[in-house]
Order: sequence, then C-alpha cells, then structure tokens
Amino acid sequence: MARIGFVGLGNMGGPMARNLVKAGHEVAVFDLDAAAMARVPCATAAGSAADAARGADFVLTMLPAGAHVREAWLGAGGMAAASAPDAVLIDCSTIDVASARIVAEQCGRAFLDAPVSGGVMGAEAASLTFMVGGAAAAFAQAEPILRQMGRAVIHCGAAGAGQAAKACNNMMLAATMIVTAEAFVLAESLGLSHQALFEVASKSSGQSWSLTTYCPVPGPVPGSPANRDYAPGFAASLMLKDLGLAVGAAEAGGVATPLGARALALYQDFVAQGGGGTDFSGIIRMLREKG
Ligand code: NAD
Repeated sequence: MARIGFVGLGNMGGPMARNLVKAGHEVAVFDLDAAAMARVPCATAAGSAADAARGADFVLTMLPAGAHVREAWLGAGGMAAASAPDAVLIDCSTIDVASARIVAEQCGRAFLDAPVSGGVMGAEAASLTFMVGGAAAAFAQAEPILRQMGRAVIHCGAAGAGQAAKACNNMMLAATMIVTAEAFVLAESLGLSHQALFEVASKSSGQSWSLTTYCPVPGPVPGSPANRDYAPGFAASLMLKDLGLAVGAAEAGGVATPLGARALALYQDFVAQGGGGTDFSGIIRMLREKG
C-alpha cells in the first residue's frame, strides 16, 4: 500500500480520492474548500497542499485549469518542493499542453500528466480512462495506482502527450456530436423518424459514440442525457473548456482545425444562451432553433 497525497477534491477528485482510500492506501487530502475535504472520510485532512504532498510516494492533483496546476506545484503552493525527491507527481486535471510541459520541466521530480475521460460517474465507479504523458519509468510506477481509479490507463508518450490526447479526443467528440445532432434535425425536416435514422446509421458508416452511446434525441439509446431533458452527463461548459484547449493548441502550432474552430464557436453560442449547465448533446435544441 502506498502513501498518497491528493489535492483538489471537487466533483472528480472527491470520488477518485475515495477510491484510493477504499483500495487501502494511506491518503492525505487537501482542498481550499473544507466541505470538499469532509466528503473524503477516512483520509487524513492536511493543512495545506504542501502538507498533503510531504512524505507521499505519489502526489495527485485534480484542479480546474492550468493556472491552478502551475501555482499549486511550482508557485506559493510549493507542492513539488515539499514532495519527496523520489515521489511520482501526477496531475489528472484537464489543462493546456504547455502548462503540463512547464510543470514537468520545472518540478524537479518524476511528473506525469494524466487527464481522464469518463466524467463524474466514471470517477465514482473507478472506470475512468487515463491518458498519460511522461517518462516510461514513472508511468510503470503510477499505473497500478491509476488502475484503482480507472479501467483503461494508456501511456501516450512524453510530457504533455496525455493532455494532447485529451484535447484531440474531445475535439473529435464535439464535432461528431454536432453533426449527429444536425443529421437528426435534418431527418425531422425530411419526415424520417429518429428511430429509423438510428437503426440505419448505427449499422452504417455514420456510426459513432455520439450516436450509439450518447444519442442526442430521446428514444433510441434509453440511457443518454436526451432522455432526461439533457441533464448532464458532460456539461456543455466543460466541453467548451476542452474545445478552447484544443483550438488554442492548434492556433499556437499553426495547425488548421476548421471543424474544431466551428465547434468551439457553436458551443460558445450555446453557453452564451444559457446552455452551460446542460449536457453537451443538448446543443441539438439550439441547432433546431437556428433553422
Ligand atoms: P470542481 O470545480 O468540482 O473541483 C475542483 C476542486 O479544486 C474544488 O473543490 C476546488 O475547491 C479545488 N481547488 C481549486 N484550487 C485549489 C488549490 N489551489 N488547492 C486546493 N484545492 C483547490 O472540478 P471537477 O469537475 O472536479 O474537475 C476537475 C478537473 O477535471 C478539471 O480540470 C476538469 O476539466 C477535469 N474533468 C472534469 C470532468 C467532469 O465531468 N467534471 C470530466 C473530465 C475531466
């Protein structure tokens, strides 16, 4: 069993830390919000992020954005300096590739970027997918720990590769969701039923996860958010954040991602119209109204 420090106990970090406690590890936790710490019973409540990191074999963060992550590890938070020289540091937040690489270069320890997909349900069920960037030796040490919070743990390459994989994946997801929703709206106008389009496309070349797991209309996939008035799920505000990271990386690298940029603009509109707390598949409502 390992000694683990865990900082950032929100919607995702809370259940992830609870799964590490359940697996029998000695876990020290810290969050700026005391109520979030109280939601991880049987862990040691540390007085600061640095205290959570001190003496741990593995130190994890699950924070909102790149600025929080840089500050926690390298800034006044001082987590990297407080950690043991042979500790493995793991950031599971979704952040920009550049921030992940800066922390990896400057923290003076083995550092992995390990963002996740699977959402709050995946965090609770320990069924997350981890996409990991960093040195192979650190990955080998961390993999058994990550497996106690997830079902798939994939080494994607050097520092930043985990964040790169997350950005690319979610850009594909956003674009396929939008075009799937557009296809259902078009079918409605052509008198083709939702079920008929689903039956055909799910067995044809239009097939995708957005269609067969997360269908944006009620009926064909009973568990999809469309069947519960688009309660998330994966909120549109989080999709907008991830698209911003993908398109920002594309712009910084001079790469053309015209569909990614269009998806970003559409989710910006949707969130500006009050859809931020709605599941991202709820964008079909805005597309219907555009007609
Ligand atoms: P959240 O806002 O629920 O939790 C963030 C937590 O971090 C809060 O409890 C906050 O108090 C704490 N925090 C912020 N700054 C801190 C600091 N300096 N020190 C200690 N604690 C601090 O967010 P979340 O939904 O848990 O998401 C966390 C990360 O996971 C984000 O990067 C998000 O993009 C990513 N993510 C979220 C989901 C999802 O479905 N919610 C899915 C995949 C990835």
